[in-house]
Amino acid sequence: MKISEKLKNVKTSISFEFFPPKTEEGEKNLLKTVKDLENLNPTFVSITYGAGGSTRDRTKRIVEKLAKDTDLTVMAHLTCIGHTEKEIKEILDYYKNIGIRNILALRGDIPLEKLKEGYKEEEIFKSCKHANELVSFIRDNYKDWFSIGVAVYPEGHPESPNLERDVYYFKKKVEAGADFGITQMFFDNNYFYKYMELLDKEGIKIPIIAGIMPITNFKQIRKFALMCGATIPESLIKKLEKYENSPEETEKIGIEFAVEQCIDLLKNGVKGLHFYTLNKSKATLQIYNSIKHLLD
Ligand SMILES: Cc1cc2nc3c(=O)[nH]c(=O)nc-3n(C[C@H](O)[C@H](O)[C@H](O)COP(=O)(O)OP(=O)(O)OC[C@H]3O[C@@H](n4cnc5c(N)ncnc54)[C@H](O)[C@@H]3O)c2cc1C
Repeated sequence: MKISEKLKNVKTSISFEFFPPKTEEGEKNLLKTVKDLENLNPTFVSITYGAGGSTRDRTKRIVEKLAKDTDLTVMAHLTCIGHTEKEIKEILDYYKNIGIRNILALRGDIPLEKLKEGYKEEEIFKSCKHANELVSFIRDNYKDWFSIGVAVYPEGHPESPNLERDVYYFKKKVEAGADFGITQMFFDNNYFYKYMELLDKEGIKIPIIAGIMPITNFKQIRKFALMCGATIPESLIKKLEKYENSPEETEKIGIEFAVEQCIDLLKNGVKGLHFYTLNKSKATLQIYNSIKHLLD
């Protein structure tokens, strides 16, 4: 089923993001995680796509497996960076043929070394240069078959000169036919609320789903946050630093923080919570159990 339709029928959407594992062991773990989480009746689950090329076929395989073996609504991420139009069409045809109705249309990251050294556009882009072009491509070629999600950045995308410019380009994705947005992870809800005000001013009305990253490994999440420009509040950093050598304590603090964050978002009418699970169920399950009384 299309996510755009499902979003009309739920007050608050819950969804989970997974990445395609590299090993058999990793796949077993993922399938166990999916089993743990599918009982929570998520609106959808999504599978990431390796812009660098590393996980591309694995994404297709996991998307197909979950669509066939479970009752979950599955969304495939797709990045256009490095792909020709023909390749993009082959992937989308594949998804259409196996009955997938949902795509998260992304550009993908420009490799860091290229950003530093400078690059010729044709080295990196073989067709669409930005996600809005990918959204248009999907709409032109597949009409309404796919429900299309896009990425949004409450703190601005790292390449953007300012938030207003980022919102300007987000609007282009909406005009091209995006149905909903999912945010980059953020830890300070004030960024989200201010961003929503900006969208309101611009007349952008599509549902915005908040991306929640439970912190279970501080070093790892700090690195991710730095890369994508997400601010971790100083008070949280201090708490986590204090227990740097205790994974149990880190996880406890991370979960408590995410619970508070989700409760605040729910009380302020957020349309959905999208959990970056990192293929693990424990933290997401605990957070869900602490907030379920506020869901439909
Ligand atoms: C929910 C979510 C899921 C993600 N999943 C994946 C994944 O599976 N695989 C992966 O590799 N990456 C993923 N990413 C990361 C994403 O690919 C990167 O953040 C990437 O750098 C930007 O992708 P985008 O689709 O937002 O690009 P765009 O919307 O193209 O934006 C990229 C930059 O260009 C600017 N811009 C946008 N349109 C234009 C235009 N027409 N002209 C000029 N400038 C423009 C924007 O302001 C921004 O600074 C995900 C991000 C999010 C938030």
